Amino acid sequence: MTPPSRCGSVAIVGRPNVGKSTLLNRLVGRKLSITSPKPQTTRSRLLGIKTEGLDQIIYIDTPGWQRRAPRELNRLMTREVLGALQQVDVIVLVVEAGRWCDADAHVFAHIRRRSLPVLLAMNKIDRLAGKSELLPELERRWAAGSFAEIVPVSARFSDNVAALEQSLRRFLPQRPHLFPEDQLCDRSERHLAGEFLREKLVRLLDEELPYSAGVVIDEFTEQGKLVRIFATIWVERPGQKAIVIGENGAMLKRIGEQARHDIERLLGRRVFLRTWVKVRENWADDARFVRELHRQLPAHAR
Ligand code: GDP
Ligand code: MG
Repeated sequence: MTPPSRCGSVAIVGRPNVGKSTLLNRLVGRKLSITSPKPQTTRSRLLGIKTEGLDQIIYIDTPGWQRRAPRELNRLMTREVLGALQQVDVIVLVVEAGRWCDADAHVFAHIRRRSLPVLLAMNKIDRLAGKSELLPELERRWAAGSFAEIVPVSARFSDNVAALEQSLRRFLPQRPHLFPEDQLCDRSERHLAGEFLREKLVRLLDEELPYSAGVVIDEFTEQGKLVRIFATIWVERPGQKAIVIGENGAMLKRIGEQARHDIERLLGRRVFLRTWVKVRENWADDARFVRELHRQLPAHAR
């Protein structure tokens, strides 16, 4: 008799910028979720699926946990995290090694109410001066209690990520697989293309602007070996539009080139990308417009 298949879902949670999305990409082995040194890069839930033999692990990347949610967009992001915790088998709390702080404690206080196993992933161990720094912290966290396991990792350098996956497998219930073996993500290529474009805005532009920008893919068509993509970047003020476009269009060109490169890698095909920048005042406060952007997500992720 063949052994039964196992399938479980893992929510990846934590305060902003600790490396949740980088970790998801490593665990799945493909860039799906966008990452940047700035907080609030991830706006909505994303599933990354890894099937290996009898085991299927469904990883759920979530926006950073926000204590205050001043705008409609932020409130939506917090709902995304809470929603992600509804139906999971295990939670990975990501923190930065050597930097446990109030915000981490705040997230932990929330998730431990769920009476689900919580694994602590201490990320960015590459930044520690030496392993000797790690040991006392591991002991402190362990003594503070309630973690099913503590795994130090470096998502950026893929250090010990396989060990984390191994630990997670123990929590997979026997269950038929929910997704086909070759499916990596719950999002369409069209949606990921928009996200990759937004990643470049976040990375290439100054602090404030990316939070005021939203991306809509207006057209995504296959033409033989080429994929043709038309996109609109929505900003809130005419001044922001000028910044995104840059002098003689230089910034928009750079954003477009970098996004195209990532999209081509994802699709394994050549891409023709054209991008427009348009203004819509205070769109991030506008519940209807935020929902409209959000509608590009599949129903279960909304
Ligand atoms: P998220 O907001 O928690 O999803 O964090 P991201 O995955 O977007 O990462 C935030 C920043 O931390 C990015 O600049 C990443 O490159 C960086 N980062 C993530 N993991 C590591 C790591 O293991 N080591 C180091 N040094 N940086 C990391
Ligand atoms: Mg993220």
